[in-house]
Amino acid sequence: MEDAKFRRCHGCDLVVEVAKVAKKQNAHCPRCNTQLYRGNRISLNSDLAIAVAALLLFIPSHFFPMVTIQLFGVMIPATLPSGTITLMSEGFPMLGLLILFCSSIVPFLVCGSVVSAHLALRRKWFTLFRLSVSTIQHLKDWMMLDVFLVSLAIACFKIQDHADIFVGSGLYGLVLLLFVTSLLLTHVSARRYWRAWQRKHQQKIEAPITRPETSIHCEHCHFTQQSGTHCIRCKRPIHSRKPKSIQKTWLYLLTATIFIIPANVLSISILLTNGKRLEDTIFSGVAGLIKTDMYGIAIIIFVASIVVPVAKILGLGYLLLCVQFKRSVFHQQRMAIYSAVKWIGKWSVMDLFVISIMMTLIDRGQILDFTPGLGAVAFGLVVVFTMLAAESFDSRLIWDNYERTDKS
Ligand SMILES: [Zn+2]
Ligand SMILES: [Zn+2]
Repeated sequence: MEDAKFRRCHGCDLVVEVAKVAKKQNAHCPRCNTQLYRGNRISLNSDLAIAVAALLLFIPSHFFPMVTIQLFGVMIPATLPSGTITLMSEGFPMLGLLILFCSSIVPFLVCGSVVSAHLALRRKWFTLFRLSVSTIQHLKDWMMLDVFLVSLAIACFKIQDHADIFVGSGLYGLVLLLFVTSLLLTHVSARRYWRAWQRKHQQKIEAPITRPETSIHCEHCHFTQQSGTHCIRCKRPIHSRKPKSIQKTWLYLLTATIFIIPANVLSISILLTNGKRLEDTIFSGVAGLIKTDMYGIAIIIFVASIVVPVAKILGLGYLLLCVQFKRSVFHQQRMAIYSAVKWIGKWSVMDLFVISIMMTLIDRGQILDFTPGLGAVAFGLVVVFTMLAAESFDSRLIWDNYERTDKS
């Protein structure tokens, strides 16, 4: 069955003609350059195979030690879950949960949802199918295994003065899991699943769009249709713009801005060694790294925890102001800012991961004790709220006053 002739770009709402794309090629919006759809590289069944492989990899990556630390002559193995459980039981449940969520729960749910989407597709279970596809769609931005692994490397580098570190088999499992889940993310697409559903179970709804100018695009299943209150394919409420997008984005952004102050003023980590108490803020931590000649890590941490959150807040604030003041130039540039903000978002969580990993690795009671400070909690909130802000912003608002005379 053929697809519709027209669809709207989910990035800028431009009506574009649907053209066939060759394998391994992507179709991009001519106006905002958002990727509209991909030429099918692999079949849906390959998605399933990759997801099952990833699920199997959860066993070695989560239950075998990732690193073993030799501290004061004792060998201490550390697995990913045991680290986060230590963090939760020592008074930082939110931090522990955030790490467990981004590095284990989300990848597990995404892979599991691919499997359940296939099952539901075969058995015609609409509710499960819709739930699975939207889980994949909404959680994939929160998958942070890559950030976790980079953080683990930095943490190991920072504590190599205190202890000997040995790589465990769980780490290989984690690297493989990262590889397989990244492969899955580049292939999996909600649009394809919904098309498969439509082909299998509801062939009648493909009514041709007679008047593209009154059509509306469903952001859940990426189906362009004649305007109505609910999507005819996924049955969700349908809006031409995300409801209350500007208000919600401002709310999240202002909350993040408030928390960025304690995040930078309060100490983010506290190290107790031989009775001495060393407190570090984000900035003094970076300064300390420079003093000990770890320039590379100092730059990474500085960019990830100071430059990125501030740039995200300023960038989104600028976009919101432009929308509200109906600024009519530089649409492309503003779209680029929005894409950059979304893409870079998760990397700001890195310092938090580093601290948490260091804590679970070297927190050994009286002689050497390492805990996150209150600044770390505030910083975690900054990261979460800036990510929520980026998610609630509707990029189509940028283009609402775009004049066709500007270009093409
Ligand atoms: Zn577009
Ligand atoms: Zn829909």
